[in-house]
Amino acid sequence: MSAPNIETIVSLAKRRGFVFPSSEIYGGLGSAWDYGPLGVELCNNVKQAWWRWMVYERDDMEGIDSSIILNRSVWKYSGHEDTFSDPLVDCRNCKSRLRYDKLEASETATSVSGTAASSTQRGGLKCPNCGSTDLTEPRPFNLMFRTTIGATAEDDDPTALAYLRPETAQGIFINFLSVLTTSRRKLPFGIAQIGKSFRNEVTPGNFIFRTREFEQMEMEYFVRPGEDEQIHQEWIDSCFTWFANLGVSQENLRLYEQPKEELAHYAKRTVDILYRFFPERDDEEKQWDELMGIANRTDFDLRAHSKKPEDAEGKRLNPDSTEDLSYFDEATKERFYPYVIEPAAGVNRTVLAILMDAYSEKVTDKGEKRVILKLHPQLAPIKAAILPLARNKPEIVGMAKAVKRSLQPVLRAVYDDTGGIGKLYARQDEIGTPFCITVDHQSLEDEAVTVRDRDTWEQERIKVEDLHQYLQARLQAPAPKD
Ligand code: ATP
Repeated sequence: MSAPNIETIVSLAKRRGFVFPSSEIYGGLGSAWDYGPLGVELCNNVKQAWWRWMVYERDDMEGIDSSIILNRSVWKYSGHEDTFSDPLVDCRNCKSRLRYDKLEASETATSVSGTAASSTQRGGLKCPNCGSTDLTEPRPFNLMFRTTIGATAEDDDPTALAYLRPETAQGIFINFLSVLTTSRRKLPFGIAQIGKSFRNEVTPGNFIFRTREFEQMEMEYFVRPGEDEQIHQEWIDSCFTWFANLGVSQENLRLYEQPKEELAHYAKRTVDILYRFFPERDDEEKQWDELMGIANRTDFDLRAHSKKPEDAEGKRLNPDSTEDLSYFDEATKERFYPYVIEPAAGVNRTVLAILMDAYSEKVTDKGEKRVILKLHPQLAPIKAAILPLARNKPEIVGMAKAVKRSLQPVLRAVYDDTGGIGKLYARQDEIGTPFCITVDHQSLEDEAVTVRDRDTWEQERIKVEDLHQYLQARLQAPAPKD
């Protein structure tokens, strides 16, 4: 099973220390969330899993970490200053600001079209807050957060204007040449980056699904034009498999081919991986939303940031760039701008999908409902909980703490003696700890502990000296989900 709705995860996340509403002691800040002790471990594990898969397990990948604030020209030539906007409408009745392309038609409307259509095509739309149809005409609202650079800058000084990056990808394109020359790579190869991005979303919401500050895991894979279509398809398949290998149920994953009218200005083809974030919705089609996008960005970005390309009159298209980001192919003696395939996922949306998908409930022999978070062991915030069966026996407590200390350098382990064993097990099940290890009287004699499996609740007696190896092997090979 998986969570019946996002609300179930919001309450679990707050109760157990995964995610808290941000700035809560000052009344909060709309759609901003802070990651607690378990949340930060889960995010780190997702990022590590992605980096291991994307960078370490391949021979054709480099990583970088570029600045969040870049030269403003980057956003001018990437097209973001002109086009990175959402269509905004105001409700004249309740004063809400709304995203035009997400509005639904009022029940009485006769001319209703799809979800993303132009302003002239859509009629009879209603405000989701008050139901009024008295809405302004849509106008573009740029999603980039603005800031100013320098101590003397006035707020409206255009020479000091800068943006917080709305995607990590541009940091990769502007470093293409530096990475290429320092790593002596040949096509095809990729550059991966994980980092924060910022978008002044008109309608953030649905917990950590859409926030104004979020983290992205993006990779730009540079290929020869002509090889782009096949390699794009291979990345689509491989990204889908990555989520499935992390334990996300395939019945909750789906591919979506963006129709031509939805494509970004730079894209030749984009396929999104959707997750069933809204299983409670009656209309099946509305249960799905984007988890990751895999775009064929063509040579748009490298070309746009290069000094060479000229228009028909011989005028440079980019007079501000000092470099040409083309590639010289030694084999064919040709110079060209590589095409780019971009798998782009959000850390936070991935965390949400993983939490929703791992959620399950089980009824004990005594008829009590237990929540079990069936996280892939590699993603579980805590890998092992060490629980003494007698907390008033110093030898048992001492041994349990020693076992915890011996495991902790390689895997996150906790010691807990703050309740009866049933309660301690339930607490660990609810946060997805794959192994509970109990130390009892017999342990003092046979140097062995009992390891309890989160999913099956089965127990096994393991010698302390073999524990490390045993856990490492089990962490690699998760039991299949039911
Ligand atoms: P959406 O259509 O949901 O706004 P997008 O198509 O604009 O997303 P991309 O630009 O393709 O998103 O970004 C890649 C990934 O970054 C998305 O698939 C998503 O996982 C994540 N992402 C984008 N915007 C946000 C946001 N505001 N909050 C959280 N994650 C986001």
